[in-house]
Amino acid sequence: MQTTHSAEDLRTQMATVLRAAGSAPEEATTVAENLVEANLRGHDSHGVGMLPRYVEAVLEGGLKPNSKVHIRMDTGTLLNLDGQRGYGQVIGEASMKLGIERAQQHGSCIMTLGNTHHLGRIGHFAEMAVVQGLVALHFVNVLSRPVVAPFGGADGRYGTNPCCIGVPLAGRPPFLLDFATSRVAQGKMRVAHNEGRQIAPDTLIDEHGRPTTNPAVVVVPQSNGLFGALLAFGEHKGYGLAVACELLGGALTGGGTWHKPTDPSVRTVLNGMLTILIDPSKLATQVAFEEEALAFVDWLQAGPVAEGFDAVQIAGEPELATRAQRTIKGIHIDAQTWREIVRAAQSVKVELPMQ
Ligand code: NAD
Repeated sequence: MQTTHSAEDLRTQMATVLRAAGSAPEEATTVAENLVEANLRGHDSHGVGMLPRYVEAVLEGGLKPNSKVHIRMDTGTLLNLDGQRGYGQVIGEASMKLGIERAQQHGSCIMTLGNTHHLGRIGHFAEMAVVQGLVALHFVNVLSRPVVAPFGGADGRYGTNPCCIGVPLAGRPPFLLDFATSRVAQGKMRVAHNEGRQIAPDTLIDEHGRPTTNPAVVVVPQSNGLFGALLAFGEHKGYGLAVACELLGGALTGGGTWHKPTDPSVRTVLNGMLTILIDPSKLATQVAFEEEALAFVDWLQAGPVAEGFDAVQIAGEPELATRAQRTIKGIHIDAQTWREIVRAAQSVKVELPMQ
């Protein structure tokens, strides 16, 4: 069972709940817009379904509404920022504005951000940079529950550590690669579990380290109170990239890495993010960069299309197509996710329609 919602209704409803959970109106609007934007772009894992978790995190004290980004160190091209456990959507945007300014001024900026609550869809931050003509690289770690098993390991030891690269392309939408280093995002397991779907083989192991297709193993505690785990994408290579995200997004930022047993009762999700911004107009390669980038993408897309595919796409294109479609047709939300949103709203004394 699903219900269909317009983006506009969802924005209003989410903002109402966020205000009731303590956010100032501007913060509530920013977070609500960000969540709905994730749904519009096809990433329901990072859309309005996160709201219950955010409300719980506020109520348990791990997420602090109305926090501002704190500058711990600033050399002009190096920024070290602390998110003070604020909403990642707001802290992330404020941090990116600072970093973008510096990259435009100096040609590049290396920015570390620690101790921020869940940043949501990392591509949002790369989009902020590429519309300004900047290249953006992001390496992110997740401090919440170790849901991903190391290559060769049989239990979860770290998070879904996303990596994102945005490259502006002259006269066309950017290359926007944005993915969890687990084979699938944890939030997609929540959505699949809520919809009663099984998952493709080679994605998950259960709480005993055995292969399974049941997403429940990473969503609800299993019979022995333990969770299963997601596997890394790309075997040892994806696993290596995930470790790099932990070392860069967690250790280098000062936000911290994961190295303790799970506490399933904790709802707070903290992210650490290393961001590298480059202004190609400050390098002597601007003309070649534009021409060569376009020539390569055209070359990719001029090749024959394999059976079972409609086209050769580049990263970022699927999200734009989904956005165009969902803006017109609306956003589907499964019944369980909507029930959870309604319950979260009730916990801060807001009544949302049951459908
Ligand atoms: P995904 O597997 O759906 O897509 C990953 C990337 O692949 C996107 O850049 C997309 O444009 C590209 N892509 C998809 N189909 C393609 C095709 N046919 N051809 C070319 N490119 C294609 O993403 P995911 O791993 O499920 O991640 C979803 C979101 O979750 C991301 O936005 C990520 O930032 C976010 N995330 C956030 C956190 C956090 O803690 N904040 C943690 C994990 C993931």
